[in-house]
Amino acid sequence: MIVILKNDVQREKRDQLIEWLKEQGLGIHISEGEYQTVLGLIGDTGNVDMELIESLSIVDSVKRVSESFKCCNRKFHPEDTVVEVGDVKIGSGHFAMIAGPCSVESEEQIVAVAKAVKASGANMLRGGAFKPRTSPYDFQGLKATGIELLKLAKAETGLPIVTEIMSVNHLPLFEDVDVIQVGARNMQNFELLRALGKIDKPILLKRGLASTLKELLMSAEYIMAGGNDRIILCERGIRTFGDYTRNTLDLAAVPMLHELTHLPVIVDPSHATGIARLVRPMALAAAACGADGLIIEVHNDPMKALCDGAQSLRPEDYDALAKDVFGIREVSLG
Ligand code: PEP
Ligand code: MN
Repeated sequence: MIVILKNDVQREKRDQLIEWLKEQGLGIHISEGEYQTVLGLIGDTGNVDMELIESLSIVDSVKRVSESFKCCNRKFHPEDTVVEVGDVKIGSGHFAMIAGPCSVESEEQIVAVAKAVKASGANMLRGGAFKPRTSPYDFQGLKATGIELLKLAKAETGLPIVTEIMSVNHLPLFEDVDVIQVGARNMQNFELLRALGKIDKPILLKRGLASTLKELLMSAEYIMAGGNDRIILCERGIRTFGDYTRNTLDLAAVPMLHELTHLPVIVDPSHATGIARLVRPMALAAAACGADGLIIEVHNDPMKALCDGAQSLRPEDYDALAKDVFGIREVSLG
């Protein structure tokens, strides 16, 4: 249920209403917008007297929210959320250009790629240290050393770092990581989501391989219910009967998610297609349909990459892509 307050309500009266609602065992999510304040009621609202609340002089209207996701629901928070990562903002017109290798392989590799993508306009560096691989015999990432190398690349370039967590036990290693990624395979690792709800760091939450948008939003809800509302959603392709691409990029998810939630939505055209030459057209399409950013795999020598070389762009290809993406954004933003 949401309670929309009238404009210019006295703080004291607003707080009295909140206290009274809390006494009924409800959690209250307050969204203070430029034009209106929305109180989102969380918990069992079955016994809440809607008519009584509606009759209060400070209340404009009361609505039931039928969806099971509440905190991330746009009805609870009508304005776009802007996630801040250092000086970088994502959402509501602020665009994230996250780029870097699938996995961190060496200091030379990560620093070279970081410098190159920064020169092309990237504002964050990605790189896997803990890699979720289908085969246990494949390269599993440099783990803690990989995070140290990302920190070196950050020190060299100033780019905030984004890297994936696979286990809640590794959380202490992520202290200096700017954005913690929850990969597709862990989207429904509820223990992990709950733990990330308790920390004060932005989370990049990728859609599961066969997850619906509702499931993605329920996973965001796990994190938000714990108190962490700095979440970036990511469409990274889903499993379908498409046979020539690694996954099927569900671009309609971008405008649909923008309707359903106030959280920023970025697109990963690298994992969505699995093919380097398809990354540029899909990145442009994502920018055109309103995505709040892109996360793209770039490697200085894709032929020798230890992971996902086939979908990795060379730095010069990323440079050309970035120019075109910025061009599309200028056109689509008018
Ligand atoms: C990744 O970004 O490195 C990754 C493993 O992505 P996903 O979880 O989308 O497969
Ligand atoms: Mn990858």
